[in-house]
Amino acid sequence: MSKGEKSTTETFTMYVGGEPTASESGETTTATNPATGESLGEVPKGTREDARRAIAAAREVQPELEAMTDFERAELCHELADAVEANHESLAEWLTKDQGKPLSEARTEVELCAKEFRNAAEDVKRAETEVIPSEDPDKHIYTIRKPHGVLGVITPWNYPLNIPAEYLAPGVAVGNAVVWVPAPTTSVVAVKLLETFAEADVSLPDGALNLVTGDGPVVGDEVVVNDGTDAIGFTGSPETGEEIASKAGTKPTLLELGGNGPVIVLDDADLDAAVGCTAFGCFSNAGQICSASERVLVHEDVREEFTERMVERAREMQLGDPTDPGTDLGPLNNEGVAEKMDRHVADARDKGADVLVGGGRADDQPTDRYYEPTVLSGVTTDMTVNWEESFGPIAPIIGFESYEEAVEIANEIDLGLTSSVFTSNLELAEYFADRIETGIVNVNDSSAYWEIHTPFGGYTGKRSGHGRIGGKYSIAELSQLKTIAIDHGNARSPLDTA
Ligand code: NDP
Repeated sequence: MSKGEKSTTETFTMYVGGEPTASESGETTTATNPATGESLGEVPKGTREDARRAIAAAREVQPELEAMTDFERAELCHELADAVEANHESLAEWLTKDQGKPLSEARTEVELCAKEFRNAAEDVKRAETEVIPSEDPDKHIYTIRKPHGVLGVITPWNYPLNIPAEYLAPGVAVGNAVVWVPAPTTSVVAVKLLETFAEADVSLPDGALNLVTGDGPVVGDEVVVNDGTDAIGFTGSPETGEEIASKAGTKPTLLELGGNGPVIVLDDADLDAAVGCTAFGCFSNAGQICSASERVLVHEDVREEFTERMVERAREMQLGDPTDPGTDLGPLNNEGVAEKMDRHVADARDKGADVLVGGGRADDQPTDRYYEPTVLSGVTTDMTVNWEESFGPIAPIIGFESYEEAVEIANEIDLGLTSSVFTSNLELAEYFADRIETGIVNVNDSSAYWEIHTPFGGYTGKRSGHGRIGGKYSIAELSQLKTIAIDHGNARSPLDTA
């Protein structure tokens, strides 16, 4: 919608300096529910000037936040978690309307969002630093933890509450003021989170958490290049991550980028577990997970049975209204991801893969964003579905004969986020866990299994990002150590000067 036009729907606001605010341009974008195509309302289309205002607000309040003790900021994080929990159902409903995921998954995500704040509260209280032995008897050397200052945070649409919380919670816990740019297609639920904080009885200083909605290449870019931000946290695609890394210059960056999770099913695997966990990794959140089971490598001895059972699973999955408790998969969040699925399946078909189930958009749903759970067999490594992250509900099955071949296929692509191996042999589990080039290797569980206090991130040398999210690792990434060396002059014998 352009400036001046009237809207009959709800108008959402950004948050700058603790105040709900429109864009200085007056422009808005219509947010739509991907499940129904209906309008959710108008979201401000932020400008560079809006981002600059938010950065200025964050800079102003950051010293106040930093001056608080870790215990005071921990209390603040608990209050923010309380606010999320008190609004659990409402946030879950907005999340489903804005993102498209089934309500049951949305509820889990809201719980995780609250838990991020609880964990950060506890982690910061235990973020001990060191006293370091000195060569000089007169020196007392120790480290203290300082925030970076103003933290810019840019997040995607697949987990629009939990992923932001992975930065906001530890970021604030260590004393950073934050300027957050959410993905445009899930900005409404971002506004709802900030609204929740604003309306709760929380001692958050005004301007400690700012929200700027708008296009990533405009407001996100301003947050990255502006001298007023001191560090950047970004979750999204490798392409955008690389652009951000190059523009951020010497600012510390924490980059959580794409994955193409190989799942390796060995000939001795428990197939019940392998099928159940792989189906979860392929189809939950309609496959829109960075740690999804994107490529399913199955030993030839069990490939046929595994494939049949995956097809059965896919047929059982209910695609439909995400607010219906019987629904397993809702719509894809946006047209771009649906088109990518179309392209990957067409390429696989052209190159000889068999589409055993699914393989296209459902024609009996209210919008064309619903993609059928899909199983492909006869997938070969030259297909796009092997090389690129699909980010949709797809299980491309690739056969292998030797363990070396499985490792080679797993490692030959340029992404390395998460993976999983199914075997009942401990030595084989360790053989694969040691060799697969991903930041996380799950044995006998889905590639998407992750506990949020453990380190999560891309393998060095791949394009899945750098740094580690999770628990004390986030606290370390979003802060800096300052080394202090005090010369006591006469520490060895202070009485000499008496
Ligand atoms: P994108 O990289 O396209 O976008 C992510 C965010 O960055 C959006 O808000 C986008 O805004 C913004 N953005 C785009 N260009 C710029 C720019 N030049 N400067 C600053 N911000 C910019 O990713 P997707 O939204 O497609 O998200 C999916 C990707 O995220 C997948 O690759 C997935 O694997 C990855 N991901 C990684 C996770 C991890 O933990 N490693 C977790 C979840 C997802 P706009 O939409 O306006 O362009």
